[in-house]
Amino acid sequence: MKAEAAFTHDVPPQRVVFASGALSRVGEEAERLNIGRALVVATPGSGERLGKKVTDILGAQAVGLHAQAVIHVPKAVAEAGLKAARDTKADGVIVVGGGSAIGLAKAIAFETALPIIAIPTTYSGSEATPILGMTDGERKITVRDSKVVPRTIIYDPDLTLGLPPAVSASSGMNAIAHCVEALWIDNRTPVTVGLSCEAMLRIGRSLPVAVADGSNQPARSDCLIAAWLAGAVLSAGTALQHKLAHVLGGLGLPHAEAHAIILPHVMRFNLEAAPEAKARLEDALVSGDPADAIANMLRKFPIPERLREIGFDKAKSDFVAGEVAAGKITAPRPATADAVREILAAAY
Ligand code: NAD
Repeated sequence: MKAEAAFTHDVPPQRVVFASGALSRVGEEAERLNIGRALVVATPGSGERLGKKVTDILGAQAVGLHAQAVIHVPKAVAEAGLKAARDTKADGVIVVGGGSAIGLAKAIAFETALPIIAIPTTYSGSEATPILGMTDGERKITVRDSKVVPRTIIYDPDLTLGLPPAVSASSGMNAIAHCVEALWIDNRTPVTVGLSCEAMLRIGRSLPVAVADGSNQPARSDCLIAAWLAGAVLSAGTALQHKLAHVLGGLGLPHAEAHAIILPHVMRFNLEAAPEAKARLEDALVSGDPADAIANMLRKFPIPERLREIGFDKAKSDFVAGEVAAGKITAPRPATADAVREILAAAY
């Protein structure tokens, strides 16, 4: 237990529509926000096909499909998105896809204050946060601004049935990372702790099912609900897990995979100093060793388990350790440069 309760609860309010087939309601949800000229944002490839589906439903309510989102929102990608919004005189952004697409929509809203409707199809949780991450060279910049919070989220689990096992697994592990970290940050609140435990319970039981059988509708729904709650608790703050993933992301490593790989190691490092978080995770994961339970889950997933497999250059360990240590994270225990070097070595 925290010796003294002290927190600021600042989780943004949002309208959330959750239903199988909810995508068909995108037009009326746009109308509610007075969006009559929507720019639809997506990633290329499978994301673009989803984007096309949305523009087809919107008809004259859409002024264009901008399917050029890229992970970590590089500066040039943000500028191109902004130009598309201005050129089309869009009065709202409707984004469909994962955290990469949602990131680009947020970058556009950050400059224009246009309202966003998010239709998430992965478990990144970005749709529920006021956080925008962008990259400029080797550094990732994060801003927090209420302008980038999607006004409405439409969750349609049907859209996630075709999410590839690797993306389901990696973005699901990202959601788990949000939940775990939410339990040991200083700024945790009774609401975020409750949401985090509920999300852990759902994703702990359903992510392995959804990864093994993507067409399992109940498991997909469970994971998507968990992703929403995980995103909501991420708004309360972050510590070592997210700082480390953030610095690794700046080096160009894939975001969700990096989260997944370091999570069991960060848990091993932190949980002994966070008995309340440990007890809650033991309950949610039905395991006496939550770090081991997560490591075992990861082992069965079709995604990398080691930093060396995703291109981490060991020679960058000191740089990463220095960047993380500069954050002076103390909850639940000091994240020193030495500690980070050890975590990186164990995860390598
Ligand atoms: P992603 O958005 O990059 O998606 C991964 C791949 O899956 C893409 O190729 C995409 O086109 C494809 N895809 C998405 N939905 C699909 C579907 N339904 N069917 C088939 N293919 C589909 O991955 P992600 O893990 O969702 O997001 C990662 C990004 O999100 C990172 O840039 C990260 O920094 C950011 N993020 C931000 C926050 C925040 O609060 N700001 C939180 C979490 C993650």
